Amino acid sequence: MNPSRPFVYPDAHSPLACDGVGLDILAKRYGTPLYVYSAQQILYRLQLFTKAFQTVPHLVCYAVKANSSLAILKLLAEQGAGFDIVSGGELERVLRVSKEAAGRTVFSGVGKTAAEIDLALRSGIFMFNVESAGELDLLAARASRLRIRARVAMRVNPDVFAETHPYISTGLREHKFGIDIREARRVYLSAAKQKYLLPHGVSVHIGSQIRSADPFGAAAHRIAQLVLELRSDGLPIRAVDVGGGLGIEYHAGQSFDPKQKIHQYALALLQALRPLKDVQLLLEPGRFIVAQAGALLTRVLYRKKNGKKTFVITDAAMNDLIRPALYQAHHEILPVFPHKDARKRTVDVVGPVCETGDFFARDRKLQEVQPGDLLAILDAGAYGFSLSSNYNSRPRAAEVLVEDKKHRLIRRRETVEELMAAELP
Ligand SMILES: *Cc1c(COP(=O)(O)O)cnc(C)c1O
Repeated sequence: MNPSRPFVYPDAHSPLACDGVGLDILAKRYGTPLYVYSAQQILYRLQLFTKAFQTVPHLVCYAVKANSSLAILKLLAEQGAGFDIVSGGELERVLRVSKEAAGRTVFSGVGKTAAEIDLALRSGIFMFNVESAGELDLLAARASRLRIRARVAMRVNPDVFAETHPYISTGLREHKFGIDIREARRVYLSAAKQKYLLPHGVSVHIGSQIRSADPFGAAAHRIAQLVLELRSDGLPIRAVDVGGGLGIEYHAGQSFDPKQKIHQYALALLQALRPLKDVQLLLEPGRFIVAQAGALLTRVLYRKKNGKKTFVITDAAMNDLIRPALYQAHHEILPVFPHKDARKRTVDVVGPVCETGDFFARDRKLQEVQPGDLLAILDAGAYGFSLSSNYNSRPRAAEVLVEDKKHRLIRRRETVEELMAAELP
């Protein structure tokens, strides 16, 4: 079995499977639309990071927002992973699966509220990644009020360009993220004066779906310079948090070896950080851990022609997977039952939602499909379910985890009753 591809046809006559479990079986058992995840793949990806960075003290803090399913968080927590959270809600999720994992959790995000800060202080998280001078003031006030000392890192904005979609690029001065690296030293010195704040690290996160290792190296290089300056100012900086953002290849036909990719990434980072002695490296991968471990399974409802175009209408929609609509993202789509001799058609694969943006693929060559056929939308494990919504009053999909050839429901399908439960007509 190829450890980097969980969704494959076991042989020429079998339906598409996840780690050997036929997706047709899962569709029949749990219905569609359905998210299917490979536990083995998630653990494999985590282990790739651990191995690539084994020569330095490090902690992988999985970015919860990529996929915040409790079962997946639990799987990772059991392996000793830490977490990167961006809200109090995500912290509650981490606490739900493992109280002690709070001690391996870093809190990022530009808009932390007092209530979220208090919860994080009381839970004993590892470190706050502070994104502004105003946030630092609030954190100092809450920490001294609760008499809990907080480790802090400033998330600095290194002004590094990274090739990715503009919505998920975060490391340029014009973006809302982080503190201008030129201002950082001053902010650290003011933090050092606060009794309940411990300046402990420097953090950076330049964006998401970045496929080249170079911008990570460039950012780490700037961070290393800053750490040296801060240490010369007498600050005991012990941690460097390099953020997440390592991209995957969504297009079939492009060669992609995750092991090789992480190797290049580690090389770029470790080289840039070499001047620093005695640091703990924090990594915040999200997409790279879970994206290729997940697929969205959907059933074809209709096929229709409008003018020259053929539309394949599925029971999944943009509310289930918004990446194509939001980022013009490409996802490979495979028929669960492949027919060797089937004709290929150029079609748009679309959902039932009332928006022209509700599509999974446009002008895509696909084996001819009929209503009732199953399709798998690949590489949907990251920013798939976690970005899903109830738009058009559509209950959110169910989720299944495949583990050791067994499958289990990790989130049952929502009901319309639940959608209305909080409303006061
Ligand atoms: C989103 C995010 C990540 C994870 O990004 P990926 O591209 O999924 O690896 C890590 N750190 C921070 C601060 C983030 O906002």
